[in-house]
Amino acid sequence: MKHTYFTHLTCSLCAKHHAADRVQTVCSACGATLLAGYDLDSAKKSLRRSSFDGREGTMWRYRELLPARDPSLIVTLGEGWTPLLRAPVTAAALGTPELYVKEEGYNPTGSFKARGISMAVSLAREFGIREACMPSAGNAGGALAAYAAAGGIGAHVFVPADTPRVNIDEVGFYGGEVTLVDGVISDAARVMNEAGRGTGWFDMSTMKEPYRLEGKKTMGYEIAEQFSWDLPDVIVYPTGGGTGLIGMWKAFGEMERLGWLSGKKPRMVSVQMEGCAPIVRAFGEKAGKSEFWKDARTVASGLRVPKAFADHLILRALYDSGGRAIAVSDASALAMMGEAAVGDGLCLCPEGAAALAAVGELRRTGFIAGDEKIVVFNTGSGYKYTELFRGAVIPKN
Ligand SMILES: *Cc1c(COP(=O)(O)O)cnc(C)c1O
Repeated sequence: MKHTYFTHLTCSLCAKHHAADRVQTVCSACGATLLAGYDLDSAKKSLRRSSFDGREGTMWRYRELLPARDPSLIVTLGEGWTPLLRAPVTAAALGTPELYVKEEGYNPTGSFKARGISMAVSLAREFGIREACMPSAGNAGGALAAYAAAGGIGAHVFVPADTPRVNIDEVGFYGGEVTLVDGVISDAARVMNEAGRGTGWFDMSTMKEPYRLEGKKTMGYEIAEQFSWDLPDVIVYPTGGGTGLIGMWKAFGEMERLGWLSGKKPRMVSVQMEGCAPIVRAFGEKAGKSEFWKDARTVASGLRVPKAFADHLILRALYDSGGRAIAVSDASALAMMGEAAVGDGLCLCPEGAAALAAVGELRRTGFIAGDEKIVVFNTGSGYKYTELFRGAVIPKN
């Protein structure tokens, strides 16, 4: 069997094809995100759903459908193949007994960013890249620093100065360089572009680098395999740059073409915070793109993204799947952190807690029926947010 069926890149906007055997960022014709393409017709002939049985418990179990060509250059720290946990007490309170939490906090560096960065750093090594840079709202920077260390390349991370302390310190801990910038992630990106000029640093920004998406895509394959190829009815995803949501929707499309799915694909739900909800606003206006959100403010730092670069792909997945976009308050996310901790022993990050809180609202409004199978993403470990623990304590009555 082939190591990978990866063949080319296609522009998500103008559909122009791009070669896959050299460094690519965005479309050279129109500037939009590039998507990895595979020879799925050939894959369909030899690859089976059962091909993955008994393979390693990481995202690399799906290697034929991933873009890495040289196995010797893969940089892995054991990312992926995270559990689907039950949370019976919280599920009962929300009125959704068929609720599952995809626990991405168990990934290396404590968040699902590990999946995308493992992939991007592996590909960067194939192309001989020596230095990578990235603006980060939180967990991406630490993941880059760790995987760059493991892969022997340099990491330069630019973060808002008020990013949680752990996200700043973990970059230096893994030997990367971190620069603090006043403002939000878009300001960090601007400073990075100035600092990086003429240095040869490779820009690994969300959706401007084509392979992080392929790493996050594996969440879609995992959910399918873990549910014996019978997908859930609804996926609830805390959305910043949207990589995971777009990636899973891409994965479901690939699986459909491979003939591996029978039922309907899940309705995709984007959850954002009331203090930064550009996708929710665009969805409400049935728009194809979002507007920059001014004065973005929320404790859920991973969701403090005022304008997602690939907003058109997030919105397309929401519309095409019959999904929704919904905003919740910081207070309800913190309350849910406490409820899930006391009720079910879970340690959610505020982003994941926000997604769980949104389930209650979606159930009340009738978007979710009581017997539907729901997967909520806890995108990172609550242990990276210990400063929020006290604010989330439930008073004993
Ligand atoms: C980055 C991040 C998100 C947002 O992920 P996207 O795929 O960029 O939308 C959500 N939660 C946490 C904990 C994050 O670090």
